[in-house]
Amino acid sequence: MRRIVIGITSLEQHIEAVKANPEHYRPRCCPHCGIKLLWRHGHYERKAGRQLEQRSLNPVPICRYLCSGCQRTCSRLPECIAPRRWYDWSVQQEALKPRLKGCSAGHRADYGGPDERTVDRWWQWLKARSDLFEFHLRARFAELGRAAGFDALWRQVFASLGLARAMAILDHELSVP
Ligand SMILES: [Zn+2]
Repeated sequence: MRRIVIGITSLEQHIEAVKANPEHYRPRCCPHCGIKLLWRHGHYERKAGRQLEQRSLNPVPICRYLCSGCQRTCSRLPECIAPRRWYDWSVQQEALKPRLKGCSAGHRADYGGPDERTVDRWWQWLKARSDLFEFHLRARFAELGRAAGFDALWRQVFASLGLARAMAILDHELSVP
């Protein structure tokens, strides 16, 4: 299931797209039963801007769709919002960066950022799933072939694709996070 819409990289862009082109968010088929007939079904609101400068954008609307077969609802998120995570991908990337060997420190949120326990959880998640992520990313991006080992690979992913885009791409094959 493609739960993440690639290319919508900021909350501002997302809010604009929901207004101007909500079709963009329509899933191709129902993630529950596979039927391809989905109706617009309003939206729900989600808090997404955790950083200070984004907070005024909260809550952001997420388009909802109703399946004509099983009557369940589904929705898709823009690339900038992480499914099932409180913090968006860019915050996760900046928090994880200093843990990678050879990476310059990421800029930390001055306040309201994730605590160390949360960052630990993300770090354990990345380590646990890295082999699988790596397999799919290397198959797609030949230039990652030169990065040897966990630290080098993720340094390069962060510097080139960025965590948000990498996860949006991976979400086509697997379920992240
Ligand atoms: Zn369905």
